[in-house]
Amino acid sequence: MLPILEVKDLKKHYPVKKGIFGRTNGMAKALDGISLTICKGETFAIVGESGSGKTTLGKTVLRLIEPTSGSIIFDGVDITQLGAESMRQLKTDMQMVYQDPYGSLDPKWTVGRTLEEPLRTHYSLSAQVITERIHRILEVVGLTPQHALRYPYELSGGQRQRVGIARALILEPKFIVFDEPVSALDVSIQAQVLTLLEDLQSRLSLTYLFVSHDLSVVRYISNQVGVMYLGKMMEVGPTEALFSDPLHPYTQALISAIPEPNPDKRSERIVLSGEVPSPRNPPSGCVFHTRCPKAMPQCASIQPEWLQISENRYTACHLYTN
Ligand code: SF4
Repeated sequence: MLPILEVKDLKKHYPVKKGIFGRTNGMAKALDGISLTICKGETFAIVGESGSGKTTLGKTVLRLIEPTSGSIIFDGVDITQLGAESMRQLKTDMQMVYQDPYGSLDPKWTVGRTLEEPLRTHYSLSAQVITERIHRILEVVGLTPQHALRYPYELSGGQRQRVGIARALILEPKFIVFDEPVSALDVSIQAQVLTLLEDLQSRLSLTYLFVSHDLSVVRYISNQVGVMYLGKMMEVGPTEALFSDPLHPYTQALISAIPEPNPDKRSERIVLSGEVPSPRNPPSGCVFHTRCPKAMPQCASIQPEWLQISENRYTACHLYTN
C-alpha cells in the first residue's frame, strides 16, 4: 500500500511560563521525535494515557498546532513548508472529528448551517448545489434531509456525532483525524458509529488517524497501532500482532489491563506504580523508567533507540538492544 502520510522526527515543545510576568522556565515536550507512516485506506490508531501527546499529534499532523520541527509529508508534499493559502486549500483533503460532538457544534446554528459553512469557505457553489450536497451527506451518515433544520440540542449524542462526521466529509477529504470520536457516547451507540466509520472508509476510500484511550475500540477499528507515552512513541505495529504479543513493557501493561471475560485467556495484570510524570520535567534516559517493571540500570540515563524488531514492528526499549 502507498503511504498517504509520513511523519518524521516531529517535535512540539512549548515554553513553560512561570510567575506574574510569565517568565519562560524550560520547555514542555508535548511531542518529542515522533515518526510514523500511514498507508492509503488504513486506520492507524494512537493510544496512550492522558498527557501522552496523542491529541497534540492528531492536531499537529493537520497543522491545527504548528510543529516546532520535523516534517509532515501528506500525499508527497511536506505540508510544514506550505503557506497559509496552500494550507487552506489542503484543508479540503484533511479533516478532523472531535470527541465532544456537542462542544464542537455551534448551538446557535442549525445542522444545515453547520454543513454549509465549510462549503461556502472553500467553494463558490449555488444555493441549490449546497442544499443538494447537504442533503446527500446527511443521508451518507445515516441521517435525513429533515435533520438540516434541527439545532444540536434537538439531537441525540449519536446524531450529533453523525453531524460532526458529515461536517468532516462534506469537503470530500482523503484523510480524517478522529480524536476520541466515540468516548462520549453510550456503548450501544459507539458500536453504530464505529460501523458507520468502517462503512464510510471502504465506500469513500478514506484513511484514518484514530486517537483513543480505549484499547477495545482500537483493536476493533484499526490496522496499525502506535503507543505513546510522555510525547514519545513507545511501539508501533500491526494491530493483532501488537495485541497478541506486545513488545514494550508499557504496551504490555496497557494490554494486561483490558478486561478479559474468558478466564482461560486472562493474563496477569501488570499494575504500573505512580502517575505519568509531567512533560515539563520528563525523566532522563527512557521516559518510562520511573514506572517500568523491567527497568535496568542503564534505563535511567540512556535513551533507547527506535528499533525495528521485525518487518512491521518497532519499539524503543533497551530489552531489544543487542
Ligand atoms: Fe523499561 Fe528500560 Fe525498556 Fe524503558 S528501556 S521500557 S525502562 S526496560
